[in-house]
Amino acid sequence: MLFQDNSPHRRSVMRALSLFTAWGGLIFCVLNIMRGLHWLAAIEFFAAMAAVFSYYRMATTQRLLAWSVGFILCFYTIMMIALLVPNTSPTIFVWVFLLPLISYLTLGSHLGLRFTAVYVFFAAVAFYLRVEMEIGILTLSSAFNVVLCGSLIWVFSHLYEVNRERSQQALMKMASQDSLTGLNNRLRLTEIFQREIQVAKRNEIALSLLLIDVDHFKEVNDRYGHILGDRVLQGLADLIRSHSRQTDYGFRVGGEEFCLILSGADLNSASKVAETLRQSIDSESFEQDGESVYVTVSIGVAEYGNDGRDLDSLYRVADKRLYEAKTSGRNRVVKEGFNHAVDIRSVSASI
Ligand code: GH3
Ligand code: MG
Ligand code: MG
Repeated sequence: MLFQDNSPHRRSVMRALSLFTAWGGLIFCVLNIMRGLHWLAAIEFFAAMAAVFSYYRMATTQRLLAWSVGFILCFYTIMMIALLVPNTSPTIFVWVFLLPLISYLTLGSHLGLRFTAVYVFFAAVAFYLRVEMEIGILTLSSAFNVVLCGSLIWVFSHLYEVNRERSQQALMKMASQDSLTGLNNRLRLTEIFQREIQVAKRNEIALSLLLIDVDHFKEVNDRYGHILGDRVLQGLADLIRSHSRQTDYGFRVGGEEFCLILSGADLNSASKVAETLRQSIDSESFEQDGESVYVTVSIGVAEYGNDGRDLDSLYRVADKRLYEAKTSGRNRVVKEGFNHAVDIRSVSASI
């Protein structure tokens, strides 16, 4: 889904890493059997099998981050053990250069930084021990080359991932938000509705939907111009936001049409919210050249369950009630039926 957190980018990196580990594990397993390091070969064989399993699991799991952390922990631990094994080639330390790349690509900038810092430290300790025990003294220029190259890979990995995450967030915002009003756009309606329905079912609470359409908005544009029209839409969005609770979601679903999902509200309480919103829009004025411009809205209300069991049917009922509100005089809330409008102001005394 477009707005899901589990980025396909990280999934493909994890799958590539799993596949690579599976092949690498098998090759090193054979090499270590030939060298007589049987216990290391056995670990590598099991790691290869686990990597094959991971390759398939990463394709479908909804808990990509948890699986990635588990995989990376095992991968790095085996790498650290291999670094400490006496008599292996000193070139085994080139693998340490991969730590920042793998950590940032698979775990993101926050976790990637922490994993890199911890395991680079372990690798440095392992390197120090091996130098002390068998490799011998490194020249200053060799040590400088290793540290400089490693640091550059770390810095570039960090910068790449931080910028990638920022760009991704900016794109997600552009794709999900209406640029004029800052409300959610229509693309997000289905996703948020499905999520809120699950919450409502789990907590056994009601959920209602308001469809709000500005009355005679074309006339506002024709008379006062599109710039004022845009300001009006922004002002209405502000009013919708100020009448929403933290658990409600406002959307701009069309030119001068808005939708509000009210979590925890049944038809009656959603109608009260709609009526309060309608009244505050009715009394709000927009100033242009010393003139006060007033707009009104018509609102259709529908409740999940009684009026529909999916977004399409619920939306259709709310839309029909909105149409009723229009044909029966505008500037009103309709919460019942399709053929006869119930003007909520007429029952507002009982609310
Ligand atoms: P009704 O009461 O039946 O809803 O009449 P209406 O005039 O509001 O409806 P209609 O669908 O005829 O016109 C909607 C108008 O909304 C037409 C269009 O110019 C205007 N509109 C749509 N999007 C925007 C926008 O982003 N900015 C501005 N200023 N106007 C917009
Ligand atoms: Mg309209
Ligand atoms: Mg309209």
